[in-house]
Amino acid sequence: MTEKINFKNYGTQKNWISGNYTNPVSRKTIAVISPYFDQEIATIPDSNLEDLNLAVGKSQIAFSNWAKVNIRDRAEVMFQFKAILEKNMDEMAHLIALDNGKTIEDAKGSILRGKEVVEFATSLPAILRGDSSQVANGITCTMSYEPLGVVAGITPFNFPAMVPLWMIPLAITTGNCFILKPSEQTPLSALKIAEYLKEAGLPDDVFQVVNGSREIVEGICDHPNIKAIAFVGSSNIAKIVYGRSTALGKRALCLGGAKNHMIVVPDADLDSTAKGLLASSMGSAGQRCMAASVAVGVANIDPIIRQLVKEAEQYALGVDMGTIVSKAAFERINKYINEAEEMGADVLIDGRNAPPPKDYQNGYWLGVTILDNVNPSWPCAQEEIFGPVLSIIRTETLEDAMQIENKNIYGNAAAVFTTSGEIAKTISEKASAGMIGINIGVPVPREPYSFGGWNESKYGHGDITGESGVQFWTNLKKVTARWPETEEPWKKYF
Ligand code: NAD
Repeated sequence: MTEKINFKNYGTQKNWISGNYTNPVSRKTIAVISPYFDQEIATIPDSNLEDLNLAVGKSQIAFSNWAKVNIRDRAEVMFQFKAILEKNMDEMAHLIALDNGKTIEDAKGSILRGKEVVEFATSLPAILRGDSSQVANGITCTMSYEPLGVVAGITPFNFPAMVPLWMIPLAITTGNCFILKPSEQTPLSALKIAEYLKEAGLPDDVFQVVNGSREIVEGICDHPNIKAIAFVGSSNIAKIVYGRSTALGKRALCLGGAKNHMIVVPDADLDSTAKGLLASSMGSAGQRCMAASVAVGVANIDPIIRQLVKEAEQYALGVDMGTIVSKAAFERINKYINEAEEMGADVLIDGRNAPPPKDYQNGYWLGVTILDNVNPSWPCAQEEIFGPVLSIIRTETLEDAMQIENKNIYGNAAAVFTTSGEIAKTISEKASAGMIGINIGVPVPREPYSFGGWNESKYGHGDITGESGVQFWTNLKKVTARWPETEEPWKKYF
């Protein structure tokens, strides 16, 4: 049994500036709709550049003090924040479920993944200790990590707390002041993060939330006093944000979309492979950048597909899978399925018109959909659908399967299901993706291993979490010192 999600209208939300909810200058608002109920649950400010300037100005003043706070005290805020997150897990999970459409269990899982980065941030006193050694006679070189200044994060709808938590702990523990522009579709948990950080002892103005849409994103890219931007969202926008901000000399790391492939070999374990394929493609209703939405079956994998269908028939909407985030997304996904069917795909399981769970009759529900005998050139095999749709492509050889994976323009993740060590090794070496799973359909590296893809799944260098994230939010300073021999008065005491 999954927990029930109750309807609640949170009314007029504000921005979070100087440690408080703050009325925006902009009079424009954006309605937040719950995909469980197809009803408004809040409005948020559609902030303007004046709102952004206010946040940046306050953050700049705060930076001079925050950067001077020693690393142990900055990490202590993360220790407190972790405990507060744990204490309020239910509250935050409900907010995520309500505005995003996840089940409560899924929402809690996503908070736990975000919390791992908070935990990693508590270890930064060990990592940020830098280095020092004598590099020549009488000369020492000391290296330290220095914060950049005011930095910003722009986040997507699908993990409303986890993705901000990829950025915030590392950015602020390294001494930066952080401005978050959350997704306008799922903004409620970002404001809770702000409340929890304040409770954890974070000084005002080190963390601000500016709600809004395109104007704020462009404003962040253009703002002369924002030094670095982390973006997570679709590849089209990631590319624009990367180009616009780096053209002005900013540091940017922009994670984009994905089309992850799972290569399935006949020797794979029947049961765990069927479960793995399903969990990867249908978890979060397929709305995650780590979802593997294409299974490439090599030779005869019919027994595995039959088992997959059997497992999929047990999947219950509202229990194993939440809703689609919006009506527009719901229609887009349906269009992909209709088109694939018209092009000749075999619809093994059809999620269109799946009956909604009884308490959420107006929600945007789409059931498990499995398409077989898909041609690799079709849109459902090439484009990011971002819904609970698995496309199965059949090939004769492993080489063909590899080529299909390699040709896709993205490169977030890839997986192989096999009991052969040699096949697993070959695929992990040849797959063109940043995160590879061997008999694991969602190969999200656990902290401190860092998260990040390749190719059109990422613009910029490095990964967003782990030590790579620390490097993104800091500059290295090297001090080379020689102290001349002097006739100091204290020497007479020797
Ligand atoms: P999106 O690109 O529509 O939105 C992301 C952010 O960009 C939001 O804050 C939004 O307000 C802003 N934005 C949207 N349109 C804009 C525009 N025209 N100009 C400036 N800013 C704009 O993405 P989404 O639909 O919220 O999220 C889903 C996408 O995110 C998928 O493509 C998914 O693969 C990707 N994603 C990637 C990762 C990863 O790690 N690679 C993780 C999560 C999600």
